[in-house]
Amino acid sequence: MTDFQEVIEKIARSLDSVEDRGTVASYIPELAQVDKNKFGIYVTDAANHGYGVGDADQGFSIQSISKALSVAQAFAILGDKLWQRVDVEPSGDPFNHLSLLEQENGIPRNPFINAGAIVVADVLFSHLDNPKKDFLSYVRNIANDESIDYDEKVAISEVKTGFKNIAAANLIKSFGNIENDVDDVLDFYFHQCSLKMSCRQLTHAFYFFMNGGKCQQGRKYLTSSQAKRINAIMLTCGFYDEAGEFAFEVGLPGKSGVGGGIVALLPNKFCAATWSPGLNAKGNSKLGMKALEQLTTLTGLSIF
Ligand code: GLU
Repeated sequence: MTDFQEVIEKIARSLDSVEDRGTVASYIPELAQVDKNKFGIYVTDAANHGYGVGDADQGFSIQSISKALSVAQAFAILGDKLWQRVDVEPSGDPFNHLSLLEQENGIPRNPFINAGAIVVADVLFSHLDNPKKDFLSYVRNIANDESIDYDEKVAISEVKTGFKNIAAANLIKSFGNIENDVDDVLDFYFHQCSLKMSCRQLTHAFYFFMNGGKCQQGRKYLTSSQAKRINAIMLTCGFYDEAGEFAFEVGLPGKSGVGGGIVALLPNKFCAATWSPGLNAKGNSKLGMKALEQLTTLTGLSIF
């Protein structure tokens, strides 16, 4: 039996003295306010036991981590037809890149670059009665936690400054791959990204990816084949243009966000979330990547 508590405490101690913690994202002004010294890790294992250290219970802006949840909801609704709207190939480009979109006729490379997540938001917008409310209920249900909510301040901050996302959405719309009003879809997308959750809550929400599509309470949200597919996209595309490096260093499917969070999982074994707001040059949490590298090295648990 792996003693996750002992392992994560060891990791936290080893990273405590690291001085270069990267840079907090500032292109969304509200995120620039966050204290760079925050650090938390939480692990939930397949038997539903939880292990935490540091700021594991403090809520933060999950940003792109939400893209794994929105694509799961869209996949459950639309099935394989979803992949006609968005591809599943790594882009090798930064998360907010536009040039490939133009070359590839408005079909984004994958659901985890911003353009892809905006198309997924459009799919959900077409199928949900009340998109913001229904997506929030979906996340609360899979995590079994009614306290999860959007952070309006962060959402508004991004509505005001999300110029590249506005450009991407309009470009996609010009190719006919957005059905709804661009402003409505973006408002929904920015709210998804503004979800405020802690490391503990993130491991609860991502449990179903680790558990063949079933949440901790045993409710089924995806078939095991669908969960496998989303995990494959997390492995190949979950870390912007650093997905190869994450697979190389950590060896787990996962998803990061510019709020400094990372969630990673080993199917049927555990789900781990880290939070350290300082990012590296590729937009991934600097200490979070180091912590997860240590977690899989010290425990010997990875998909490889
Ligand atoms: N809401 C952010 C954006 O669209 C998400 C970025 C991220 O976490 O990668 O720019």
